[in-house]
Amino acid sequence: MSERVRYLNSRLQGFGTTIFAEMSALALRTGAINLGQGFPDTDGPEVVARAAAQAILDGVNQYPPGPGIPELRQAISRHQKRFYDIDYLPEGEILVTAGATEAIAATMLSLLEVGDEVVTFEPWYDSYGATIAMAGGVRKVVTLRPPDYSYDPEELEAAITPKTRLILLNTPHNPTGKVFNAAELDHIADLCRRHDLIAVTDEVYEHLVFDGEHIPLAGLPGMWGRTLTISSAGKTFSFTGWKIGWVCGPEDLVTPVRTAKQFLTYVGGAPFQPAVALALDLDDDYYSEFTADMRAKRDIICDGLEEAGMVVYRPQGTYFVNADIRPLGGVDGIEFCLALPDRAGVVGVPTQVFYDNPAEGRHLVRFAFCKRPEVLREAAERLGRLRPGPGEEAS
Ligand code: PMP
Ligand code: GLN
Repeated sequence: MSERVRYLNSRLQGFGTTIFAEMSALALRTGAINLGQGFPDTDGPEVVARAAAQAILDGVNQYPPGPGIPELRQAISRHQKRFYDIDYLPEGEILVTAGATEAIAATMLSLLEVGDEVVTFEPWYDSYGATIAMAGGVRKVVTLRPPDYSYDPEELEAAITPKTRLILLNTPHNPTGKVFNAAELDHIADLCRRHDLIAVTDEVYEHLVFDGEHIPLAGLPGMWGRTLTISSAGKTFSFTGWKIGWVCGPEDLVTPVRTAKQFLTYVGGAPFQPAVALALDLDDDYYSEFTADMRAKRDIICDGLEEAGMVVYRPQGTYFVNADIRPLGGVDGIEFCLALPDRAGVVGVPTQVFYDNPAEGRHLVRFAFCKRPEVLREAAERLGRLRPGPGEEAS
């Protein structure tokens, strides 16, 4: 699939253009409803947007301090305490980054030696593979399988070798919508302690849990001192373009990340930082309404996809759902998704691109449901037209 790209170094060969960019371009070209790339079609709270606009007018436009403005680091600290009862000092234990993406990249670039292994789950979020590769690391994957996307504990244990440096965990999990449960997290924590591994947890969907609860790995016994917790304002406040993220952890893990971060962006998003500080302190109603609103959207799209004839793996969290396209006659998710704008006027993402073993996800398509209810209903109706009628063969 991937051709050699001239001048691109060997570490990045094969990474090409991200599937999100490719699929958003396809949606733009065809005018199809874009349920591919995960970004909301409505903005976050106006009070937060106004705070950013005001900050620009007030002259908050020059480089902020390297670790992030103190008000934001204090607000992140309060957020971790309020929701999880976990303590982080704003000074030294919290670092503001250019989105979770930079936090992940700076973590890999600063913690890995060339040849170190990173254990993660597939399907994975796309930047994991690329940033591990940039750092000269080697990824080892453990497969999450439908219907519940659980993993085989022995597979995880077998993936850990003397070269393993860290476990990279994403919960709630993109693209499956899985929320790792207490027993799974206990198992992962036990392996980290036994093998003296660092844990890096990507929790950008922490406030999008519909069934069960979000449990930060850092709160488990013996884990605070070996865990870096990454999150971002993009998902929680529906401002994905602002790119304000953060890392929390013990100072001896955050310091290396800061070292790398200094030379990636140095700093970013000065006027957005006070706005995100304000957003983090919004009352509980904001958070519960945000979750309830997205739960309703999940149900609209899942019901719609089911009515359209697909097998749907209803997600416990995030704003993504995976559907099996075989009842609609689909065999290969890539072919299906490339043809979908013409056939039905909808864009989805072929989940197989997030696997080291694409056969595991060949017949799955990921749909993002962070869209207005009427858009979701229209998309589901369009997909329903693909459903074979009685006596018809699926095509
Ligand atoms: N991790 C996961 C699992 C994601 O889905 C995303 C996409 N938003 C990111 C990280 C990147 O977050 P950000 O936009 O804050 O860089
Ligand atoms: N996180 C978003 C998704 O999974 C996309 C972000 C991006 O385009 N890098 O759809």
